[in-house]
Amino acid sequence: MRHIPGAWQRTARGAGLLAPDGSSVPTIFAEMSALAAATGALNLGQGFPDEDGPEAVLDAARAAISSGVNQYAPGRGFPDLLAAVAEHQQRVYGIELDPQREVLITVGATEALAATLLALVDSPDDEVVVFEPYYDSYAACVALSGAKLVPVPLRWPDFQPDLERLASAVTDRTRVILVNDPHNPTGTVFSREVLDEVVRLAHRHDAIIVTDEVYEHLVFDGPHVPIATLPGAAERTLSISSGGKTFSLTGWKTGWVTGPADLVSAVLAVKQYLTYVGGSPFQPAIAVGLRLPDAFFASVASEMAAKAALLGTGLRAAGFEVSSPAGSYFTVVDAAPLGATDADAFCRELPARAGVVGIPLTAFVTPEHRGDYATLVRFAACKRVEVLRDAAERLAGMTFN
Ligand code: PMP
Ligand code: GLN
Repeated sequence: MRHIPGAWQRTARGAGLLAPDGSSVPTIFAEMSALAAATGALNLGQGFPDEDGPEAVLDAARAAISSGVNQYAPGRGFPDLLAAVAEHQQRVYGIELDPQREVLITVGATEALAATLLALVDSPDDEVVVFEPYYDSYAACVALSGAKLVPVPLRWPDFQPDLERLASAVTDRTRVILVNDPHNPTGTVFSREVLDEVVRLAHRHDAIIVTDEVYEHLVFDGPHVPIATLPGAAERTLSISSGGKTFSLTGWKTGWVTGPADLVSAVLAVKQYLTYVGGSPFQPAIAVGLRLPDAFFASVASEMAAKAALLGTGLRAAGFEVSSPAGSYFTVVDAAPLGATDADAFCRELPARAGVVGIPLTAFVTPEHRGDYATLVRFAACKRVEVLRDAAERLAGMTFN
């Protein structure tokens, strides 16, 4: 069938989401998981756990289906989940929220990010400051919104931004400063100085802070400090999170946005036309998860810290230089000592050479900055201990061409 390009296609092309032949370019995660499946390699690429989350949460979803929670949820989300999100923010961080006006349930953090960016920016004169490398959907959504992405580099090995570079990136054109803490792909947790500077700059230039905190419960030497808790931040911050990472349920795609009522309303205005609502039976189940005792959340962090340590030891033994993540699922290595000059090519060859999949950091940066991350690779620690041990052995026995 001949394809007649429509406005949507010109937009997707303009946003750089289409290949020159008009085909859609898969995300690096889809591509690398397909490579793992095709080669039988261990998948330390895409960040998803290989074990299910807490039984009580799984049971609650099954019970919701059995008891008829199977039609559309209210647009903002079920009141009980709105309340559970507000209770969680109060219990863990001391943040007070009106569940009916300051909380919105979304289809994962991904939809929350898309709706937020589409709600807050719309013209080529609007700028969105991001920390680079950045989670892939940030650049795609900023491009779809028509605004300009302004990256602030995070450099190996500690991946904290230079405060002067940050200050010079934020101007009166900045509509949004997009923070991701703990940070994907680097595993860094921003220092208090960095968070303070973001708040100071947001005030100075009247920007909104959007913070993606999906790894909030995966901080190894906690506590996690939400930027919304800093003085003067709450009034101009939209915080985004999701049940995916905290409860090892990445396929459930149940997330939320919290913040000032007028900003949350703007996000809802867009969100209702993206998906209207997400899967109903997951909402009461995530509410059960958010109300689990403190000990559950502490164990999530300590188990991931132990896995990251195990992965780090294995990667070091295999000859990589290894950064020290402070949170998240991820550990970044420099593969130069193993002969890598191009992380992308290295990762494509890795399944054949070692039976392991990782993600090149070059996938998380604008094309002109790829050279700065040319030999860096991200590995995910959110896998069973046996899988991490097996991966370490395979990498240590890697053959050289
Ligand atoms: N933000 C970051 C930083 C992520 O790593 C991910 C990946 N899970 C998301 C957002 C998307 O979260 P969700 O699966 O809840 O849409
Ligand atoms: N957040 C996951 C990661 O960084 C991937 C999610 C996705 O495939 N879009 O690995």
